[in-house]
Amino acid sequence: MSIKNNLLEIKSTLPEIVTLVAVSKTKPISDLMQAYDAGQRIFGENKIQEMSEKWEVMPKDIQWHMIGHVQSNKVKFMAAYVHLIHGVDSLKLLEEINKQAFKNKRIIDCLLQIHIAEEDTKFGLNETELNEILQSEAFKNLKNIKIVGLMGMATFTENQDQIKKEFQFLKSIFDQKRQIITENCQLNILSMGMSGDYQLAIECGSTMVRIGSSIFGGR
Ligand SMILES: *Cc1c(COP(=O)(O)O)cnc(C)c1O
Repeated sequence: MSIKNNLLEIKSTLPEIVTLVAVSKTKPISDLMQAYDAGQRIFGENKIQEMSEKWEVMPKDIQWHMIGHVQSNKVKFMAAYVHLIHGVDSLKLLEEINKQAFKNKRIIDCLLQIHIAEEDTKFGLNETELNEILQSEAFKNLKNIKIVGLMGMATFTENQDQIKKEFQFLKSIFDQKRQIITENCQLNILSMGMSGDYQLAIECGSTMVRIGSSIFGGR
């Protein structure tokens, strides 16, 4: 199967409200261009340097999503162009994104990453930490970021019940926090689901799936 066929087949199964992020990390630009030529305009990368190198040479109507863990000292390298940052998991990082967005005269959309997996290797906030951020005065003063949703990664397991429980948990937090609507916070996006579990994620209420290997092949 070609990248184009993979992409079109997956897209044909997605409900209209679900946005597809084509996760192109580690893949060469020629692969991304095949997806681009098939109509894909949203790409996800997990390393800022790699994303920037691709952004520089690729068509400018692409929306670049940072889906990986972000180090504060690297935010400046993507602040001019990044469309959505999925993996925000601290107030300190939000403050840095806000600072760099201000320098670029932009408002940068962000998702807060919630820890839903059993493994403690995966990044993310617990519910208490999420509440602490949303309720803090420091957060309310950030005018150059906007929290537009939540993101989570399920445990890497074959156990569908476990994955489903984790997605349902994230959806319940999402529904609860959607009631908060302020200048810099309005949750519309629920980013959950990857190649192995995106159908289940959609059943559980995902509005944005991040799919890599099923489009571009294994890494
Ligand atoms: C790599 C990655 C994906 C895509 O994973 P696949 O299994 O290749 O679809 C999705 N989300 C995040 C955060 C990733 O790092």
